[in-house]
Amino acid sequence: MSKYDYDLFVIGAGSGGVRAARMSASYGARVAVAESHHLGGTCVNLGCIPKKLLVYASHYTEDFEDAAGYGWSVPGHGGDGQAGPTFDWSTFLRNKNKEIERLNGVYERLLKNSGADIRRGQARVVDPHAAEIDGARITAERILVATGSYPWIPDLPGRELAITSDDAFHFKTMPRRVVIVGGGYIAVELAGILHGLGAKVSLIHRGMHLLRGFDDDIRAFLATEIQKKGLDLRLGASVESIERRGDALCAALADGTELAADCVLYATGRLPKTKGLGLEEVGVALDEDGAVVVDDAFQTAVPSIYAIGDVISRVQLTPVAIAEAMALAKRLFRGESARVDYAGIPTAVFSQPNVGTVGLSEAQAREHHDVAVYLSSFRALKHTLSGREEKTMMKLVVDRVTDRVLGIHMVGPDAGEIIQGFAVALKCGATKAQFDATIGVHPTAAEEFVTMREPLRNADRSPPMGIAPSSA
Ligand code: FAD
Ligand code: NDP
Repeated sequence: MSKYDYDLFVIGAGSGGVRAARMSASYGARVAVAESHHLGGTCVNLGCIPKKLLVYASHYTEDFEDAAGYGWSVPGHGGDGQAGPTFDWSTFLRNKNKEIERLNGVYERLLKNSGADIRRGQARVVDPHAAEIDGARITAERILVATGSYPWIPDLPGRELAITSDDAFHFKTMPRRVVIVGGGYIAVELAGILHGLGAKVSLIHRGMHLLRGFDDDIRAFLATEIQKKGLDLRLGASVESIERRGDALCAALADGTELAADCVLYATGRLPKTKGLGLEEVGVALDEDGAVVVDDAFQTAVPSIYAIGDVISRVQLTPVAIAEAMALAKRLFRGESARVDYAGIPTAVFSQPNVGTVGLSEAQAREHHDVAVYLSSFRALKHTLSGREEKTMMKLVVDRVTDRVLGIHMVGPDAGEIIQGFAVALKCGATKAQFDATIGVHPTAAEEFVTMREPLRNADRSPPMGIAPSSA
């Protein structure tokens, strides 16, 4: 009989914590999981799920417009002089909240059915085998830190007036004028959502290209597409201060411009949630950003304490936190030497249009490989009748020596859905010849990935494609 209350005490019931708790319990471990807010964590409550629902909500604006070209009479479109369809934020909010509550219940049942105990409250580590939650001491042979991350806002005058993505999911009323600061996933996604819902959005990014780390052609192409939609994209710009002026806020930019807004939203990255957790006091090492330092087995400097997910700041994505959780549970309670392979993680940005990507960007590939690049840009079939000017871009980066496909990138509708399947091919080491030997599904956009035959010559890399590759 163990001298501890539990075999595993998990702090945080988000994507990583819930999966680790459930899997470990299903392998026979005695598990408890602590949660200070809502079950499901960021992804379910303040991230992926409400965000994707908002993407659907906001895309209807274009869907209504596009329907006219297909013969539908949509009030307000096609010059009928009528008022167009209207969006009611409170209806959306009510329905969204209902769905999130349903998911909270699903997570609760999954945990309970697996045999894990749920402890509500703020937990804190007090020794290598004990944590406190609301004054109660719980002992465990192992402790898993899965506390996630929080949105970070840089220091600037008026910082306290700024909001983050956490607030965007609970607006009481839809803001009409929004300034968004940042050029990463959240800034780009929320800019598209709020623009689609009818707000006047200014997206302010300090760099000359959005989405650092993504393929340069993708970055340039996406910027062009979102500008075409009328979003006010300001690159190489920064907000110096925010102040309240009457009912509105005023964001003062470094170039002297002042932007009036109902809200100024910062999406400038997320930091690991380790403050006040008691980790350093018991000897767990943190890096300069506060991330828990772990080895390949997710073990910290204290052998009985482990950490996974956003709090270790490796890759802040839900499926990665889940993969880490599963590898850890298998190691601890099934004796398997499971590890997470971080190569070839597919990802999508739910911008409008979507970005989907897996593998190396062209710039990354060129560091170690002699590469051939295949690139295609076209108007999707749907938009031949809708009249929309939106374009799709698809790109393959191939190793000339081995013929292996190193990177697959897309901007266009459903890029997230499409890239998931192609990620399997990339993970299996597929060659360009195997892509070519695969028969396309017609008529789809995805078939372009198996029908691109002519690699780009350097001379093709300037207009008419209109794509200016950059290394910024
Ligand atoms: P979390 O899910 O954040 O869970 C941590 C949990 O720990 C929280 O519930 C928190 O309340 C709890 N907690 C913290 N401290 C304590 C404590 N002391 N005691 C008790 N409980 C505590 N990823 C994708 O893959 N796809 C997407 O489309 C996507 N969209 C996103 C959109 C937004 C706006 C944001 C912010 C993130 C998005 N992400 C997306 C990232 C994804 O949400 C995270 O990578 C993922 O949730 C990380 O899981 P986690 O288990 O590490 O942490
Ligand atoms: P990101 O790291 O993606 O982007 C942060 C952005 O903020 C960058 O453009 C960065 O610029 C900019 N920035 C950083 N510091 C400053 C500063 N001081 N002033 C001005 N700009 C600054 O973070 P996000 O907050 O967008 O998202 C956090 C993480 O959540 C993502 O990295 C991703 O892992 C996850 N996520 C995933 C989603 C998905 O899978 N679809 C959706 C949403 C979030 P620069 O590039 O110049 O450094």
